[in-house]
Amino acid sequence: MSLDINKIRADFPILNQKIYGKDYIYLDNGATTQKPQQVIDVVSHFYQHSNSNIHRGVHYLSEQATLAYEGVRKKIQTFIHAEHEHEIIFTKGTTDSINLVAFSFGERYVKEGDEVIISAMEHHSNIVPWQMLCERKNAKLKVIPFDKSGELELDKIDALFTKKTRILAITHISNSMGTINPIKEIIRKAHQANVPVLIDGAQSIQHLKIDVQDLDCDFFAFSGHKIYAETGIGVLYAKEKYLNEMPPYQGGGDMVDKVSFEKTTYLGAPFKFEAGTPNYVGAISLGSAIDYLLEIGLENIAEYESELLKYATEKLLAIEELTIYGTAKKKSAIISFLIKNIHHYDTGMILDKMGIAVRTGTHCTQPVMDVLCVTGTVRASFAFYNTKNDVDKLVEGVLRVKKMFD
Ligand code: PLP
Repeated sequence: MSLDINKIRADFPILNQKIYGKDYIYLDNGATTQKPQQVIDVVSHFYQHSNSNIHRGVHYLSEQATLAYEGVRKKIQTFIHAEHEHEIIFTKGTTDSINLVAFSFGERYVKEGDEVIISAMEHHSNIVPWQMLCERKNAKLKVIPFDKSGELELDKIDALFTKKTRILAITHISNSMGTINPIKEIIRKAHQANVPVLIDGAQSIQHLKIDVQDLDCDFFAFSGHKIYAETGIGVLYAKEKYLNEMPPYQGGGDMVDKVSFEKTTYLGAPFKFEAGTPNYVGAISLGSAIDYLLEIGLENIAEYESELLKYATEKLLAIEELTIYGTAKKKSAIISFLIKNIHHYDTGMILDKMGIAVRTGTHCTQPVMDVLCVTGTVRASFAFYNTKNDVDKLVEGVLRVKKMFD
């Protein structure tokens, strides 16, 4: 089935405006996605008619808000096919989810001399929390390298596992190169070595069907704002057995059973990990974004985006002296590139004046840039509301930049 792009684009008001008097071409979806009117309406309706703090009141709206919030937890359980509803923890986003695991899992399972494995293509969010854990515990961080095409060197993974390895944390899709990692195979290898795996799903949840039971991952983290919902809401999926063992990450209201000055006891998961008033409106927006995506169909989205990636890759590669960074066999619709020796900021700024929004810089993956031997790249990242016309406009823009510097 092909997507009705005109209908879809009409759902995203932000796309239908002029920037500097030009049609707006938004190609920074890896950073954040735009919101459909349906999601905006749900949030607006909630504030107009239903707002009340959750879990606390016996009054009508509080109960309705609680039902709506818990309903989204159930929806996410189904969406990623988790075994239990209480395995879904609401967080602020991917970064928050990873920090929760690095702290709480780290407190419970990691001690001096232990090892944590990540990869060389991680976002800083999946590097720094582990580094902080390793510093706290005097543990060692090990890194899986990737090759020139941006594919992980899988043959090197087995040698990294030892009896001291406590966890492997790896991205599903590289946000700077677009590589789709073979996470199912990686998880299988890790489990053979008795190592649990955290998947950073920040760049995959909005593009691929996720089945956490089929993947058999132990943790899966993602952000609402990258899947067409609000900012400040995210999810951590974790297997029940870990949630039962892990201590709370933060203390406060809503996560406690009994509080006294002598001793406080906690609720079980998920509440144990959701201290304070959560972003319940964000969660409701996430539920609405998931409804929207399911109506379009994740398979349809994946098929359309991969066509767009193929088209954009061919068009960009036809430009002389343009290099694409990240040429893995399996890629998501993310293209990082440089035009001969033109600085990425210059390219990005000129494209901006043409109404084209791309990301420039290191994309929070400085170690990736070190491996690629560049200071940064220009990144075009696509969503299902982008079109071949957007690609043509980007190509036109790139040719103009090139001409300006010739
Ligand atoms: N991991 C990856 C692969 C990302 O692309 C990002 C954001 O770009 C993050 C983690 C962090 O996400 P957030 O800033 O929403 O917490």
